[in-house]
Amino acid sequence: MEQYQFWFVVGSQFLYGPEVLETVAARAAEMAEKLSGVLPYPLVYKVTAKTNKEIADVVKEANHDDRCAGIITWCHTFSPSKMWINGFVDLQKPWCHFATQYNREIPNEEIDMDFMNLNQAAHGDREHGFIGARLRKPRKVIAGYWQDEKVAKRLGDWMKAAVGAAVSRSMRVMRFGDNMREVAVTEGDKVEVQAKLGWQVNTWAVGDLVKEMSAVTEAEIDALMEVYRTSYDIATDQLGHIRYQAREEIAMKRMLDAEGCRAFSNTFQDLYGMEQLPGLASQHLMSQGYGYGGEGDWKVAAMTAILKAMGEGGNGCSLFMEDYTYNLTEGQEYSLGAHMLEVCPCCAAEKPRIETHHLGIGMNEKDPARLVFEGKAGEAIVVSLIDMGGRLRLICQDIHCVKPILPMPNLPVARVMWQAEPDLTTGVECWITAGGAHHTVLSYDVTAEQMKDWCAIMDIEFVHITKDTTVESLEHDLFLSDLAWKLR
Ligand code: MN
Repeated sequence: MEQYQFWFVVGSQFLYGPEVLETVAARAAEMAEKLSGVLPYPLVYKVTAKTNKEIADVVKEANHDDRCAGIITWCHTFSPSKMWINGFVDLQKPWCHFATQYNREIPNEEIDMDFMNLNQAAHGDREHGFIGARLRKPRKVIAGYWQDEKVAKRLGDWMKAAVGAAVSRSMRVMRFGDNMREVAVTEGDKVEVQAKLGWQVNTWAVGDLVKEMSAVTEAEIDALMEVYRTSYDIATDQLGHIRYQAREEIAMKRMLDAEGCRAFSNTFQDLYGMEQLPGLASQHLMSQGYGYGGEGDWKVAAMTAILKAMGEGGNGCSLFMEDYTYNLTEGQEYSLGAHMLEVCPCCAAEKPRIETHHLGIGMNEKDPARLVFEGKAGEAIVVSLIDMGGRLRLICQDIHCVKPILPMPNLPVARVMWQAEPDLTTGVECWITAGGAHHTVLSYDVTAEQMKDWCAIMDIEFVHITKDTTVESLEHDLFLSDLAWKLR
């Protein structure tokens, strides 16, 4: 994982004399240091900018430094914004305008014109805001006192969205074989996603994987079996089937790492030379932060890896999910999500069990080993990236995950149950109206606001289905959005 950091760039000018500039620089350094103690990524104070050149130079440096995941600007004093134009036009990194001030209170006795000259964020941040709006620069505006916990939380959330953008721009996806035949929503323009999101999406033959699998040693499998034993309960006597999954995992990880890929897809229709569809193998890879998409769905694979990276500790609780079936009893209206095998155990409410069961779909010669568990309860979102032809649309829906209301003892896969906003049937109508896929990334720790920020940084359409959404309002928004995106 890259060690990301953010740069603190503070605006000022020469008008107030060297003493004020020294104070501004000292305070900016102090704020960056203190904030670094509470933010998920370090905030590095770079410069108190007073000239066009200083701003252009720091932007150039930010654009070229892979560690820099974004810049945070603030105007302690007034900073005339024409000197920011060249820098902002060239800026390629995410930008947050932090509208704060050093002091929390207006001091009754102390305040005079010197104090006003030094502490005029309310003045300077408006000039700074104008130039952002005038240049149509995508930016996050966060206002509030810098030492407040909730302000730091919002800054930190934005940082994670910006890290999601950095991860996206370096994303490489390994497709084992092609997409499932005839499926529309898993298709997409790979040139467009590379230009827009940075993703390199390429295909490797399943035969290459089978060759790599045959090179895995028994000792390597023994070592991974120990990891499985520690992390999961083994609830089958078919240890050979689990060992086969270990072989698949080791081979896939080797190929992914050799190519710098952090996401992969495969399909049950193309398992030539393999005995089992990777189940446990894919699940354990996902738990390590790799993204996955079934049926060749490389878009959801990449999005899973991105949301994982945006979550807690750089590998949060985000997972590949599929809408399967509904419970439509009045007052108990839920979606049941699962997949054929591949649900990431990051969301498990209990210790996952390794089980083997027959899988009729696909070319499985042996019963694939997979992790079976119930997903945890909690607030969450589901997101789906679709290709609208000419542009990408990300649909995000607020959901509440619950403990599954039924034990479902004969369902041989991991399962998650949830209520969608604004209610199940309206939520389904909205999702279908917007064109959302059956495959999603379900996240317990990435918020809708972070996905909105991510879409703004990546310059793609964002659609949010909330408790307040109606089908009529959504149709209206989608109609206007379609027009607006055609004009761009
Ligand atoms: Mn699927």
